[in-house]
Amino acid sequence: MTSTHAFWLAGRQATGEDSFDVTNPWDGRLVATVAVPTEAQVEEAVAAAHAVREEFAATPAHVRAAALDHVVRRLTERTEEIAQLISAENGKPVKWARGEVGRAVSVFRFAAEEARRFNGGEAQRLDTDAGGTGRLALTRRFPRGPVLGIAPFNFPLNLSAHKVAPAIAVGAPIILKPAPATPVSSLILGELLAETDLPAGSWSVLTVPNDRMPALVQDERLPVISFTGSGPVGYAIMESVPRKHCTLELGGNGAAVVLADWSSEEDLDRAASRIATFSNYQGGQSCISVQRVIADASVYDRLVPKITAAVEALVTGDPSDAATDVGPLVSEDAARRVESWVEEAVAAGATLHTGGTRDAATYAPTVLTDLPATTTLAHEEVFGPVLYVRRVDGEAEAFAAVNDSKYGLQAGVFTHDLETAFRAHRALEVGGVVIGDVPSYRADQMPYGGAKQSGVGREGVRYAMDDYTYERVLVLTGL
Ligand code: NAD
Repeated sequence: MTSTHAFWLAGRQATGEDSFDVTNPWDGRLVATVAVPTEAQVEEAVAAAHAVREEFAATPAHVRAAALDHVVRRLTERTEEIAQLISAENGKPVKWARGEVGRAVSVFRFAAEEARRFNGGEAQRLDTDAGGTGRLALTRRFPRGPVLGIAPFNFPLNLSAHKVAPAIAVGAPIILKPAPATPVSSLILGELLAETDLPAGSWSVLTVPNDRMPALVQDERLPVISFTGSGPVGYAIMESVPRKHCTLELGGNGAAVVLADWSSEEDLDRAASRIATFSNYQGGQSCISVQRVIADASVYDRLVPKITAAVEALVTGDPSDAATDVGPLVSEDAARRVESWVEEAVAAGATLHTGGTRDAATYAPTVLTDLPATTTLAHEEVFGPVLYVRRVDGEAEAFAAVNDSKYGLQAGVFTHDLETAFRAHRALEVGGVVIGDVPSYRADQMPYGGAKQSGVGREGVRYAMDDYTYERVLVLTGL
């Protein structure tokens, strides 16, 4: 499956002077060799985005929606091929990669729908105040300008889709920068965009190396930055461009709370199964995977063995095998880091119930309890297939435990009680609370983002469209 990929410069394919290899983290196989743009080519892409911004903003909604519909059709047709590529570049099991393509299809479909209804604007009478007699205000939203979209490795197609589709929907030029480990699916997305009638300069997919990103981030012709990735990189970007409009979608250490009323055998079996699956899907490399399980003392003793059994039932192995649940991490370095955190935890007194072993880039799904609060695992995002269970007494202590984190992306609460659900919604300092399930649920049309150090701003198609635009008022006089 080896091929050389050009990048996309203002809607056309181009190669530079350098290239880099993308390898499969499972077996080290070469997946693709990818071209790197020169500084002059990056300049050309930015200049094109800047030059086309007014034309693109004025493109009729039906034209932009038709382009988005085209991507929906073509992604659907090419699902299997793209899923195989995502699995190869990222190492995620192919069944999860198929799901990712399906979600990207939804993102483009939502964007096509929203493009058709966005920006109807509203009229506001101003004569409610004497100074406004004879005046009327009309409001509409206009793009802030070209967007720089920076994507992470863990959902390489869908999180690129979350940058690109809303930009097209509002008529904002977009320069997409995929993660170096996983650029291939974003470059395939470029193939689909190239089949549309979108203006040439309105989109680019540039495989710029990290050490050359600061210049692109600083470029004043790109006033909007939409970043998904780790906190240190995201905050460094935002702090380097305080006058730009930045959205940061960052990390988390997702908590699943199991309360006393979620106590039948069936309840606990379901919680254990969901927790096991969503602590380990994508090898735990999801910003909303379950890292912390917070269990009421009344269910703890029955829940821990059920979670351990459910984790042990997961099939770890070759991501291209349809039966595989858990593949390798994105690199052996990543697996070594996870290994060192678990070793630190066990040395500090944590109890290891299963896992704790590494084979090259693959880390075994791991369950811990009795984790000392001083350990790295207790307060940092592990981004690997590791969970720990903490015993608490009652709802108030459980909610306090969820909030005892610098992160606040999403939380799951297993309860049957509606009033508890509303209390959780009020009490938990997160961007989303999921009742009756794990925190690892994201529907691509809903607002998504973090509280505390999990991010700034919201994605989700319409929310990104709001973010990429600003409201401009037209005041009419003499009415
Ligand atoms: P990362 O921060 O290492 O990289 C993210 C992107 O930033 C990549 O494209 C990378 O090439 C680029 N980058 C690196 N240095 C840069 C610089 N100096 N200037 C500009 N861009 C630069 O993150 P990652 O390892 O790819 O992704 C994992 C992280 O992403 C985790 O923390 C995870 O929780 C987070 N994440 C968050 C969400 C969310 O929606 N909140 C979703 C997925 C992943």
